[in-house]
Amino acid sequence: MRVVFLGPPGSGKGTQAKLLAERLKVPAISTGDILRSAVRDRTPLGVQAQAVMEKGELVSDDLIVALIRERTAAHDARDGFILDGFPRTLEQGKALETMLSEMGEGLSAVVNFGVPEPVLAERMLGRAGAEGRADDRPETIRERLRVYREKTEPLAGFYRDRGMLANVDGVGEVEQVAARIDEALASVRRTGGRA
Ligand code: AMP
Repeated sequence: MRVVFLGPPGSGKGTQAKLLAERLKVPAISTGDILRSAVRDRTPLGVQAQAVMEKGELVSDDLIVALIRERTAAHDARDGFILDGFPRTLEQGKALETMLSEMGEGLSAVVNFGVPEPVLAERMLGRAGAEGRADDRPETIRERLRVYREKTEPLAGFYRDRGMLANVDGVGEVEQVAARIDEALASVRRTGGRA
């Protein structure tokens, strides 16, 4: 399966992507994790991305699309993958569509995580303490939510139009949300997303 996880920062999609990856035996590909590791290793990509990430803005579409093109071509992603944090703009969504169709492939489903904003902010502030992420400061959290609404949310409509969108309530225990994801994926497969 080739699945995209769409959702605001703090919606739990990273945790759920890793869990679903284990269930499906495909890699979970997180552009945020790849970028953070590039920043830690001070690679050219990391050096370019760091300031943008710390402000809560988006790294350029060209850089991210090149990164995803390379990562999805790796052997372990041959039979499928879960994309966590990509695409994040309509441009990225269109680039992904082109990239997959060139390979004679397409997405299986897009899981869209719904979580109210106050819950998101609370979760991200909690995570800042636990993980020490440089972009989990209150001002940056606000900016990341704003960028999400402006740049990423339109992708829900893009995928709804393609019959791929599966909305999942992201509030609840990890196991509960995981069960909802399994149900949503099964239903997209049955109905082509028209449920
Ligand atoms: P995340 O861990 O997914 O919240 O990503 C952390 C940060 O990495 C984001 O706030 C962006 O600055 C950058 N980033 C991750 N994925 C993307 C993407 N697909 N497009 C642009 N920037 C991204």
